[in-house]
Amino acid sequence: MGHLRLSGVTKSFGAAQVIKPTDLEIEEGEFAVFVGPSGCGKSTMLRMIAGLEEITSGTIEIDGQVVNHLAPVKRGISMVFQSYALYPHMSVYENIAFPLRVARTAQAEVDRLVKQAADVLQLTPRLQHRPGELSGGQRQRVAIGRAIVREPKIFLFDEPLSNLDAALRADMRVELSRLHGQLGNTMIYVTHDQIEAMTMADKIIVLRDGVIAQVGSPLELFHKPRNQFVAGFIGNPN
Ligand code: ADP
Ligand code: MG
Repeated sequence: MGHLRLSGVTKSFGAAQVIKPTDLEIEEGEFAVFVGPSGCGKSTMLRMIAGLEEITSGTIEIDGQVVNHLAPVKRGISMVFQSYALYPHMSVYENIAFPLRVARTAQAEVDRLVKQAADVLQLTPRLQHRPGELSGGQRQRVAIGRAIVREPKIFLFDEPLSNLDAALRADMRVELSRLHGQLGNTMIYVTHDQIEAMTMADKIIVLRDGVIAQVGSPLELFHKPRNQFVAGFIGNPN
């Protein structure tokens, strides 16, 4: 579960086509990273997959089902944003439980799912704390916990680490990779940071001006960049 296919997907805002016709397949369980300069269309791509942005043409399929007209909550997707808002007056437990409260999930199930998420994210000792008592990395993990409790088939991350300092970013890269290993879901991650892409991805999708410049493993892109842009971006000096 969690196989994604885009066929001929485009997005226009008014006269501007910001995503050119795009075909892409992301396998079940894959850690796929969209990387590219600011404004190239990464967030738009993710928002279309999530269903937060309507596509202009084409088809998006998840596990073989066309989801073009499915509401975000029906797609089996959870999204973690760059700027995540935690509720300061609620405990970590209630912050993580929030999407389940909205969905009117039964308390026993809420308890099971929150404890499971806290365990995976190493937040169990913090469940009764308020966000203000946590470190930046712990707060970020609470935001991820909120995405995990819905047990999505696919996780989407839009630059989730870009507000953190360099040391914490390095720690979180390791944690997210561990999380991916533990949960085994499909993860689609957006960043403008080449190091994040190279260290975390099974598959990298390099975007430039709404066009996929190349798709491949970190090693493929590094050793066989298709053009100067990819070479320059992924950092192979030759
Ligand atoms: P990235 O996330 O790679 O920085 P975005 O997906 O946010 O890029 O934006 C891609 C392009 O689409 C940019 O030129 C941006 O200005 C434009 N864009 C994004 N959202 C909107 C919108 N709601 N209305 C008009 N233009 C938009
Ligand atoms: Mg963006």
